[in-house]
Amino acid sequence: DIAMYGAKKESNRRFKFYTSDMRNRVSSDMLRSALEKNELQLYYQPKVNAVTKTIEGMETLLRWSNSKYGAISPMEFIPLAEETGLIIPIGEWVLKRACLQNRKWQDLGYNPIRVAVNISSIQFMQPDFTRVVKKTLEETKLNEKYLELEITESVALNKEEEVIEKLLMLKDMGIQISIDDFGTGYSSLSYLQRLPVDSLKIDRSFIKNIGSDSTIIKMIIGMAQSLELSIVAEGVETKEQLDYLMNLGCKYMQGYLFSRPVPAEKFEKLLADNGIINN
Ligand code: C2E
Ligand code: MG
Ligand code: MG
Ligand code: MG
Repeated sequence: DIAMYGAKKESNRRFKFYTSDMRNRVSSDMLRSALEKNELQLYYQPKVNAVTKTIEGMETLLRWSNSKYGAISPMEFIPLAEETGLIIPIGEWVLKRACLQNRKWQDLGYNPIRVAVNISSIQFMQPDFTRVVKKTLEETKLNEKYLELEITESVALNKEEEVIEKLLMLKDMGIQISIDDFGTGYSSLSYLQRLPVDSLKIDRSFIKNIGSDSTIIKMIIGMAQSLELSIVAEGVETKEQLDYLMNLGCKYMQGYLFSRPVPAEKFEKLLADNGIINN
């Protein structure tokens, strides 16, 4: 119930991030009604095996299209959602819709792949988070091995023991976990080693400078290999970046070079082409 969360809001305060006049009018009330008004939509971006060019998975990315202001970026409304507590109902909605969609594609006979969902640290730290995930899998009848949760390093920096315990519960349920935007946080190696996760996603900022400075990427890949974690490069836009990453032994990639995030109907067309990306 969205209205319930209204009580939690501090005020209808505008988020400081917005700069233009238009953005100044993006308020928590607008976001609160976005779900009810069907203004939120899920897009999907393929995670590709760059060697075989096949789609190995997909990441769910939330889109908000407002009747008055048009498309509003998640970089803007996710922080607002977190600030107001709206991230809880929105996050639960995203999780459920993504699981339902993936289940639907499997029922249609497409080769089963995993769907990744971004989880805000606020959502992750809810006491009933693991129960919500379990219930969602039951309700949508999606096999747990086809769900992946993306958390950021900042989640992992919170109350360490609690985070590890939660991750273990999710792992026990058979769910995959990845650390998003890896390299931008401050997690120590020893802590990282204790985290029960499956993969690291190298932040886009490191892919950008790959030609001129690849020190950090090499370190991250080396680290992932010694911790036996799989690795995904985010934001791959050029053939040069692709070749460079392949040479470093990183074959799982996401980025505009392969596909932008697309609505479900378009993603289904990619699946219908046997999940092979031609670029
Ligand atoms: P993220 O999880 O790191 O998602 C990757 C972002 O990089 C997405 O931005 C995606 O569109 C973009 N991207 C992918 N490939 C390329 C590329 O080749 N070049 C460039 N320049 N960008 C690329 P988007 O969709 O704007 O989302 C931004 C962030 O908002 C996400 O970063 C994630 O942190 C957050 N977000 C999006 N959807 C959700 C959601 O459902 N729940 C939560 N909690 N956060 C979300
Ligand atoms: Mg992500
Ligand atoms: Mg990321
Ligand atoms: Mg991010």
